[in-house]
Amino acid sequence: MTFSELELIEPIQKALKLQGYVKPTPIQAQAIPLLLQEKDLLGCAQTGTGKTAAFAIPILQLLHLRGAQSKGSRKIKTLIVTPTRELAIQIGESFADYGKFLHLNHTVIFGGVGQKAQTDALHKGVDILIATPGRLLDLMNQGFISLKDVEFFVLDEADRMLDMGFIHDVKKLIAALPKQRQSLFFSATMPPAITQLANTILKNPVRVEV
Ligand code: AMP
Repeated sequence: MTFSELELIEPIQKALKLQGYVKPTPIQAQAIPLLLQEKDLLGCAQTGTGKTAAFAIPILQLLHLRGAQSKGSRKIKTLIVTPTRELAIQIGESFADYGKFLHLNHTVIFGGVGQKAQTDALHKGVDILIATPGRLLDLMNQGFISLKDVEFFVLDEADRMLDMGFIHDVKKLIAALPKQRQSLFFSATMPPAITQLANTILKNPVRVEV
């Protein structure tokens, strides 16, 4: 299979070509068509499998087709939550790469640094927010972030999130999400606590394993 068989819009095809991507990885080939059909997804996949593009590409496409950027002020339509600063930055770079020819913007927020640059970016309006849980909740509590317009929610590396003690933070932010949304849940392993968490987030998910 090639990317041209995946019914992706031209600006994304062009960006992938520029990245030198020819063939979708197995998780991309399985997940992209399902996500474009607006299904919830439970993905059992490690880093290195191409899982970032598996969720970033269909989200960018659906946001673009819904005209997310054209309705006046930008609102957070997509929230990606990931356990570490490094992963957050990498995911941000992926959205920049695959969305190079689209007019959507993103910002990355994480703890351990001053919050001014992050709140300035949020004030300007953001379509896609990539965050670590602690700083996200902190900025939500200070009133800098509203999740009420979120249409896509991605929980990345859920098992690591649990290991790092983020479970309570994650539960709090899930409670602030709109009920009507498309949710994606990724974890390298699926112990019972993770399956239980996934069940509270996902609606009739399709399961993809690589
Ligand atoms: P990830 O598992 O999302 O961290 O991706 C691992 C690496 O694979 C990243 O450096 C991506 O740029 C690269 N990658 C993802 N999808 C493809 C693809 N279809 N073809 C070539 N490289 C890819």
